[in-house]
Amino acid sequence: MTQIDEHNQPRDRRGEWRPNRAVRFMPLFDWPTTPRTLAKWFFGIPGFLVPWYAIYLGFTLVAYLWFTPEIARMQSLSPGWALEILARNVVMVTLFTGGLHLWLYRLRGQGRWAKYNGSWPAERDKRFLFNNQVYDNVFWSIVGVVIWTGFEVGLWWGYANGALPFSGVAENPVWFVLWMLLMPFWRNFHFYWIHRLIHWPPLYRSVHYLHHKNVNVGPWSGLAMHPVEHLLYFSCLLIHLVVPSHPLHMMFNGMATALGPGASHSGFDEIVFGDEMAVQNDKLMHYLHHRYHSVNFGENAVPLDKWFGSFHDGTPEADARFRAARTAR
Ligand SMILES: [Zn+2]
Ligand SMILES: [Zn+2]
Repeated sequence: MTQIDEHNQPRDRRGEWRPNRAVRFMPLFDWPTTPRTLAKWFFGIPGFLVPWYAIYLGFTLVAYLWFTPEIARMQSLSPGWALEILARNVVMVTLFTGGLHLWLYRLRGQGRWAKYNGSWPAERDKRFLFNNQVYDNVFWSIVGVVIWTGFEVGLWWGYANGALPFSGVAENPVWFVLWMLLMPFWRNFHFYWIHRLIHWPPLYRSVHYLHHKNVNVGPWSGLAMHPVEHLLYFSCLLIHLVVPSHPLHMMFNGMATALGPGASHSGFDEIVFGDEMAVQNDKLMHYLHHRYHSVNFGENAVPLDKWFGSFHDGTPEADARFRAARTAR
């Protein structure tokens, strides 16, 4: 049974709204493919680069150019410069994630337009810290920023002392660009496996349950994790211990890992400002993970969920298959 909401959009009997398309993976792994398809995906709007890749890169550049301590200071570990990086990271996450929260949930700037879940998160909810989902989520997110900063500080200290494999822009421009472009694939690959790991029942019960308290997710739910999950989640940064990188790679890796969940947990398929500007968000994939738990452990860069049979593409057919399988279990 469908109902029509105040935006003239159909919602099912549970109040859920779905876009008119299935969840898709980036076409890089779809063979055979054509150069035209790949070019459209890569340069299109929305596409691989615009908007999200460009946004995370923008935040990274601002942080790198204006809000990173001088490398000479970072040769010896000291609280001074470490706290500067922490403050910068807290501000970056607050601007991005807090901005999304402000627009979508506080101001309700676009109402329920393209909102997957029909209801707004409850004001008071006993399952959360401080009896409030948003306060709980902000608290755990800031814990996450501290852990991210710990990785970043350690790696900067390594770069400042020449102790890490380094690859400069001038010496190796091709590798610099290529590694920058490969970053989302590395992050997706890493996330899929640590995410499967923490769904192992003992770890789920002691660690990952905290993130899954959020069913009706909001931007701050993204980094609302148990500290052990933060450690595993941000351990994607350890790749810079072995892969020759520029500190910009490390910063971009960290920034996208810290900001990405804000977008992927926003709960909206599209973010609309005024009459003209709509940014496609397309994060139904992870929303479905929060609804159903046993599907969509990864994201849409690398089709690991498809290869390992845990994919739910959001269509009514996939929903029926999922329910049949659950009943059978
Ligand atoms: Zn999540
Ligand atoms: Zn999960």
